[in-house]
Amino acid sequence: MSSRTPLIAGNWKMYKTVPEALETAEQLKEAVIDISGREIVISPPYVCLFPVAVALKGSNIVVAGQNVFWEDEGAYTGEVSPGMLKSAGCAYTIIGHSERRQYFGETNETVNKKIKMSIAAGLTCIVCIGELLEERETGRTFAVLETQLSEGLDGISAPQMAAVVIAYEPVWAIGTGKTATTAQAEEAHRFIRSRIEHAYGSEVSGTTRILYGGSVKPDNIDQLMAEEDVDGVLVGGASLKVESFSRIVHFVVLG
Ligand code: PEP
Repeated sequence: MSSRTPLIAGNWKMYKTVPEALETAEQLKEAVIDISGREIVISPPYVCLFPVAVALKGSNIVVAGQNVFWEDEGAYTGEVSPGMLKSAGCAYTIIGHSERRQYFGETNETVNKKIKMSIAAGLTCIVCIGELLEERETGRTFAVLETQLSEGLDGISAPQMAAVVIAYEPVWAIGTGKTATTAQAEEAHRFIRSRIEHAYGSEVSGTTRILYGGSVKPDNIDQLMAEEDVDGVLVGGASLKVESFSRIVHFVVLG
């Protein structure tokens, strides 16, 4: 296994009211109390962030925004700034999730602005990239990933990369039950790491964590985590239930 600390992140998307989120967080806290040496992140809806962060204070679970805006403050009705996420108790924010790209007009340019402002506010960014099925089938996976990386990380310095985690999420595998094979995940992760090395050198590429996302479940987590360049996972559906997310957090290191 690499020296990179595994990161297991749960994206709750638009699920759970405040009482439901609190109940799940309290149960999860107990279920993973034995875990050390692995980072655990959950990303509840905005309105749940503060109470959940308070409930998890002192635990081994930290809280992330699912999205963020790129200004500190202003007349941007409905938006939330990096500083606001930080003040609500977030250590992380997800940026550029494919659902934001698909339904809300997120582009590599807005991803880039959000990363810069979030790093400045002291948040670690989980930056999502990944190809559509059609792009994979027409042999454009690496080209798409390369563009998303170069445009998304434009102007981010090597020291700032310490606050960036990449999540490779093939869009065709998100919420579909179709997981990339471990070989497909490793191939994409290795490519991403090579592009980071090209841009920032081997020290940064060796320490940057690359997560896999797309129908991660208790029955495929151990195989995924056995891949050399898979440093963790971003989990949607299977993060909503304590039992399944706890099993994912407790992944078994295969010999
Ligand atoms: C996600 O929301 O980032 C995700 C990967 O979802 P799922 O695990 O449900 O495919």
